[in-house]
Order: sequence, then structure tokens, then C-alpha cells
Amino acid sequence: MNIVLFGPPGAGKGTQADIICGRLNIPSISTGAVLREAIKNSTPTGLLAKGYMDKGDLVPDSVVTAIIKERLTKPDCAGGYILDGFPRTLPQAKYLEEMGITIDVVLSLEVSDEEIIERLSQRRLCEDCGAPYSLKYGPPKDTSRCDKCGGRLVARQDDMPEVVASRLKTYHSQTEVLIDYYREIGILKTIKGQKEIKDTTSLVFKALGIT
Ligand code: AMP
Repeated sequence: MNIVLFGPPGAGKGTQADIICGRLNIPSISTGAVLREAIKNSTPTGLLAKGYMDKGDLVPDSVVTAIIKERLTKPDCAGGYILDGFPRTLPQAKYLEEMGITIDVVLSLEVSDEEIIERLSQRRLCEDCGAPYSLKYGPPKDTSRCDKCGGRLVARQDDMPEVVASRLKTYHSQTEVLIDYYREIGILKTIKGQKEIKDTTSLVFKALGIT
């Protein structure tokens, strides 16, 4: 099954993607995570992307589609995958079609802007393995260390309030249009983001028809 996890920044796409991929045993592909890794390694892609990401802008379609093209040809994608944060523009959605990729379901996580701002101020990420945490919902045992690998927990540069405002603006102006696009195709399922992660997961599993 090929799944798109869709929603504004901070809606919980990464968290739910990790849970679904553990349950269905398929990889979760996050263009944001690939870009952050590229920045960490100072690759040409990373250096280019950083300028956009620091401002809360989208990285150019040509960059992210190249990432997706390379990743989806890996053998572990043969049995399906979850796309977390891709597509984010209409041309990106069309690119998937041009590649002959069939998306089975688009799960749209709905969370208000107010809630997003609150959530992102509490978000921390492991510097080493990228595991996401919320200091408010599902905090790690030690607020400065990753439960999984012991890595240092840091706030994302683009979770700073002024960047969050810009990312939300970008979401509403360039990404939200995909909701109608996928609704018309008939593969959109909307999920109201809940306060508790496990409650959102229950709705996600229900939408996917898994128990
Ligand atoms: P995320 O981790 O999904 O919140 O993505 C972090 C940032 O990476 C976004 O704010 C964008 O700057 C960039 N990014 C991630 N995915 C895409 C995409 N599909 N298209 C353009 N930019 C992206």
C-alpha cells in the first residue's frame, strides 16, 4: 500500500508515519528528514535547501522530486511505503503520476494553526537518530536525551516562532490545494488530530482498515 501522510507542519505526520511503518512493515520516507540529513552533511543539496528551510519556504520542486525519485527505486519500497511531507505542491503530485506511481490513500491530518504553534514550541528532535518528541505530549524520560539512542534532543531551527508563522503561510498558500486535488481523485481521508498521539493513531488505523 502506498500512503501519503498529509497535513500542516507539526500535525504529527512523522509520528504517525513511524507508527504505521512499524505496523505495516513498510518504509516511511520524509523529504524533510532527507533534507536535514543533507544539511548536516553539508552536501550541495543541503547547502541549497538550508536557505529555503531556514525561512520556512519550500525547497524547489526539482530538488525534492530528485530525492523522491532516487528513494522510491530502492528495493525496500517494492511492497509499499509512506510518504511523509511529499507531495507539498501540485507539480509534485503530478510528478508522482508522471512516474507511474499509484497512491492508494492520502491521510490528511487536520490541526488548527493555534494548536500547531503550541505543539511546535514543544517539539524536540534527536540530533542523532531524528526521533521526534513532544515535551508536552509523550515526553522523553529525560527531556534532554533520546529514549531510543541517548542522542541529544534539540529544537528544530525551523520550529522558531517566526519560521513557524512562515511555514503555516506556505502550507495554506501552496500545499493545502492538494486536499481538493486528492478529494476529487477519491483517495482522501481526513483525520482530526487528537490531543493524545494514540487517539490519532486509532483514527489512522481505522482509516487504513487495520486493527
Ligand atoms: P518537514 O520535516 O516535513 O516539516 O519539512 C521541513 C522543511 O523541509 C519544509 O519546511 C520545507 O522547507 C522542506 N521540505 C520538506 N519536504 C518538502 C517538499 N515536499 N517540498 C518542498 N520542500 C520540502
